[in-house]
Amino acid sequence: MGILEVKGVNKRFGGLQALGDVNLSVKENSVHAIIGPNGAGKSTLLNVLVGKLIPDTGSVMFDGKSVLGRAPYEINQMGISRVFQTPEIFGDLTVLENMLIPCFAKRDGAFEMNAITSVLGQRDVIEKAEHMLEEMNMADKRHMHAAALSRGDKRRLEIGMCLSQEPRLLLLDEPTAGMARADTNNTIDLLKQISDERDITIAIIEHDMHVVFSLADRITVLAQGRPLVEDDPQNIRGNPLVREAYLGE
Ligand code: ADP
Ligand code: MG
Repeated sequence: MGILEVKGVNKRFGGLQALGDVNLSVKENSVHAIIGPNGAGKSTLLNVLVGKLIPDTGSVMFDGKSVLGRAPYEINQMGISRVFQTPEIFGDLTVLENMLIPCFAKRDGAFEMNAITSVLGQRDVIEKAEHMLEEMNMADKRHMHAAALSRGDKRRLEIGMCLSQEPRLLLLDEPTAGMARADTNNTIDLLKQISDERDITIAIIEHDMHVVFSLADRITVLAQGRPLVEDDPQNIRGNPLVREAYLGE
């Protein structure tokens, strides 16, 4: 049994079958990539996992408990944290202020914007945020406005913000989309480090094969909403069905 078990998930948008009978088993502490051409249903699947979409049929179990019917914040509290396709950070706040938000949320169960202005006497949260920035190798940038960060550093900050919630499953939707090669390679190194050093499972949706083959222990290929194949990277590489799904794009 994997830490995440998806069985028979279907999701329609009107006449379009976005997900058709999707099964997925993600092993604890692995890096599992979900790949497939544009429109394959990857983001839809991720939205189901985090409670943003409710499937028409099927089950989603995380650590033996059903996530279906739970609100996104409840699923987050169960230990699933998600990094969005476009960075969701506050450009007008500094790097440290951004990092304080999930650290407050983790401690207090909620975040109130005025907590940031009454930050004196909140030493524990500040220390945690600073520690997290050190782990992300961003301590020297903590007083920069987040808007001024490079694309790779924005992503790095966002991943750190997710990790500060201490998730057991980290979900990423095309974390290197639109990045230059150097930023992509930095993100690959960061995710490798996180996977090696932490007790965490990573499920990554990715279009870039260089990223997929650099990170994944296991790969599920989706095509037109259906799981085409699930296998180890070396078997996926040469699989003619996979080639066809990509070439047919
Ligand atoms: P991927 O992330 O693999 O590119 P998506 O999951 O975003 O694919 O989309 C799968 C299919 O579902 C696409 O055809 C897309 O246009 C459609 N789709 C996604 N979200 C919605 C929605 N909210 N309403 C209608 N159609 C949608
Ligand atoms: Mg997508």
